[in-house]
Amino acid sequence: MINIPKGTKDVLPQDAYRWHYLENTMRDVARLFCIDEIRTPVFEHTELFLRGVGDTTDIVNKEMYTFEDKGGRSMTLKPEGTAGVARAFIENALYANPQPTKMYYITPVFRYERPQAGRLREHHQFGIEYFGASSPLADVEVMTVAATLFKRLGIGNLSLRINSIGCPECRVRYNVALRAYLQSRLDDMCPVCRERFDKNPLRILDCKEAGCKAITAQAPVTLDYLCDECRTHHEQVCAGLDAIGMAYEIDPHIVRGLDYYTRTVFEFISSNIGAQGTVCGGGRYNNLVEQVGGKPTPAVGFGMGIERLLLTCEQLGLPLGQAYAPDYYIAPLCEDAKGLAANLAAQLRDAGKAVSVDLLDRGMKAQLKYANKIGARHVVLIGEDELAGNRVNVKDMTTGESTMTQPSATAIVAADGKGERI
Ligand code: ATP
Ligand code: MG
Repeated sequence: MINIPKGTKDVLPQDAYRWHYLENTMRDVARLFCIDEIRTPVFEHTELFLRGVGDTTDIVNKEMYTFEDKGGRSMTLKPEGTAGVARAFIENALYANPQPTKMYYITPVFRYERPQAGRLREHHQFGIEYFGASSPLADVEVMTVAATLFKRLGIGNLSLRINSIGCPECRVRYNVALRAYLQSRLDDMCPVCRERFDKNPLRILDCKEAGCKAITAQAPVTLDYLCDECRTHHEQVCAGLDAIGMAYEIDPHIVRGLDYYTRTVFEFISSNIGAQGTVCGGGRYNNLVEQVGGKPTPAVGFGMGIERLLLTCEQLGLPLGQAYAPDYYIAPLCEDAKGLAANLAAQLRDAGKAVSVDLLDRGMKAQLKYANKIGARHVVLIGEDELAGNRVNVKDMTTGESTMTQPSATAIVAADGKGERI
């Protein structure tokens, strides 16, 4: 027996409807905001992520699924959704279209992480990317897209936390202050953070180790080091959220894990799913497109973990649509009925009905039991008597009523609710 790889999950047939429900809701919310879908490859040249995501990030350092293809090129399975979209934006000259370019994706994402609840090696993300809009209105709209989705799904327990980490110039001044604060405390920090101290001290604020958290609680905050333009942008984002009545909290410890962020960063956090509580993370990344070879292009977006979204919905007991069930189960009860059964199944399917037919040569009792188990709404019974009388017996499985009617899809559909209890 070969098992599923660690940190991956099957979506089983009986659960697929929940995924469809989430994905359909995502697609519909995207439609409301006039965001079109983009699909990019599952693997890209490794270089794209080195340049796009940044080689000081955990993702690039430790978590990428990188392999050499048969042509000797280094390839990497998508560790996040944004870099591929930025590459496609440049490569397909989407910047030549009327701007902004608003895109969404639903994609698997691969990260070599320690598997635990809410943390997988293959997970899925719904993400959106807005290219070409530097206005704080775009930041606010991006957050609104996530909030609209949560509202549609009936999720009311996610809190929005926002921060601004400024531009590279603000970052230089901030890093000086942060290093000065951390210098004397380095010995009490985790080995990863000691490494971050030189390469990318901002990331220390994102550390989940208790010791580091305690130290960074009193650390200087990026908001105090913003240049005038970044400060104004941040204030306008807050004013925009206020204007639409969206609740948020300013959290100076939100810095996000990826190098490409500038100015706005945000997370939607669930209090219910423990340490892996971030369902959606995003922000602005004005330097990404240039970093991967395009012209400077402002950009803002988010990535939402679909498994964590599902977990949140499940904890809240949200229904997530309905399991699929046949409208009709057709039960031929003798050899001669099989032709008619197949014929009626085809007619009913042409009429848009979901139909299952006996494929195991079962007897009547077993067929009815099976039809009940799979939740069929109606069973069409065809035995010797029915064949002789040119009729079929349509049984409504909810009410138990049976109706004798002509053997045609139209008559079978019309029989609904007209039968007698027998
Ligand atoms: P975390 O801090 O939890 O590691 P992250 O900062 O690495 O998250 P992002 O790269 O911003 O996460 O990804 C966007 C979203 O994708 C996250 O908010 C989360 O919901 C989801 N996500 C990230 N990594 C995983 C994973 N390994 N398994 C399941 N979902 C994940
Ligand atoms: Mg992570």
